Amino acid sequence: MALIVQKYGGTSVGSTARIRDVARRVARFRREGHQVVVVVSAMAGETNRLLALARELSPSPDPRELDVVAATGEQVTIGLLSIALKELGVEARSYTGAQVRILTDNAHTKARILEIDEERVRRDLEAGTVVVVAGFQGVDRHGNVTTLGRGGSDTSGVALAAALKADECQIYTDVDGVYTTDPRIVPEARRLDRITFEEMLELASQGSKVLQIRSVEFAGKYLVRVRVLSSFEDPEANPTGTLITYEEDENMEQAIISGIAFNRDEAKISVMGVEDRPGIAYAILGPIAAANIDVDMIVQNIGASGHTDFSFTVNRNEYRKALEVLERERAAGRFQARELIGDNRIAKVSVVGIGMRSHVGLASKMFKTLADEGINIQMISTSEIKIAVVIDEKYLELAVRVLHKAFELEKGGNGG
Ligand code: ASP
Ligand code: MG
Repeated sequence: MALIVQKYGGTSVGSTARIRDVARRVARFRREGHQVVVVVSAMAGETNRLLALARELSPSPDPRELDVVAATGEQVTIGLLSIALKELGVEARSYTGAQVRILTDNAHTKARILEIDEERVRRDLEAGTVVVVAGFQGVDRHGNVTTLGRGGSDTSGVALAAALKADECQIYTDVDGVYTTDPRIVPEARRLDRITFEEMLELASQGSKVLQIRSVEFAGKYLVRVRVLSSFEDPEANPTGTLITYEEDENMEQAIISGIAFNRDEAKISVMGVEDRPGIAYAILGPIAAANIDVDMIVQNIGASGHTDFSFTVNRNEYRKALEVLERERAAGRFQARELIGDNRIAKVSVVGIGMRSHVGLASKMFKTLADEGINIQMISTSEIKIAVVIDEKYLELAVRVLHKAFELEKGGNGG
């Protein structure tokens, strides 16, 4: 007997028929004698619909009230799933985040989980009851409803698994695991049986949408055993999905490159011809951080004649705001620049693999592959296990396809 947390995403609970399927899958695990906690998202499209309603009434709805509205989506699903489970003769109980007491900070719309009171859940599990918890939501210490950011149900699932010391956290989605890249772009993309936690973290932060990045961070912190699976697969076939691992398994041959992530959600800002002096990076990026805008890549060149060019990327929906902040600072004389250039038609492509630690020449292979296709690289950034480049958005799919082939990812990723 194991304690399993299963998280089902929006498409997995997108209709009452799908909810019934989920109930059957849960019932099967119960019959095998496992204790099961189920964490659910809102039905597909529901969170978008709720947020749009609020925006019909205000262009910038009050975040506290926005959370009150958004959290209702998951409340519907927990009730419906519990009804479906009882209909199958399975004892089940639903709880909102506040009822469990998933305590968060008060950063409405992007709250962080601080603590989970797992006592009640544990008591139900011991009585043989399936516990159905609303994902994406919690409560702050004053009793205000909070939400954890888009895709936050993954984090609810992993956090509950950590609090309960569950044997496994199964994340059910509409793909049967983590792929070498998006199969919609590269049909030869391959499902990975396992991926290391570090690689998963890079893939999630570089744009792979399979898991919310915060959930991966959480898993790493508490060493939660996470498995990504499809809720559309036949459970009788015992699908294994993709397991996130924590130690490099000595006996397994490790692929050099594991995957290619990409992201179209970024925009680039270049500050051209700024004075080259101590404090200039802070003069430019300090106000950006103060405006709560996340910066991803940063490049500064050694300049000629006391001047330098400075470029960075931000999320595309914060691009306008970032440009405004810089125009304002420049007008106020905080820095001098010849020109401010924005480009929101860029994309980022990243090659990720733990094997980069022990293999050389992977970056040059990536650059040559792109050069052979005439794709210009605008920015480069690297980590121990990642090389990321910014390119023109219109070459994104081509870049992903040629890199997938060059690194032989369809065969196992040893083409480094
Ligand atoms: N329903 C929320 C969203 O769409 C949370 C989730 O699905 O993980 O972002
Ligand atoms: Mg999701």
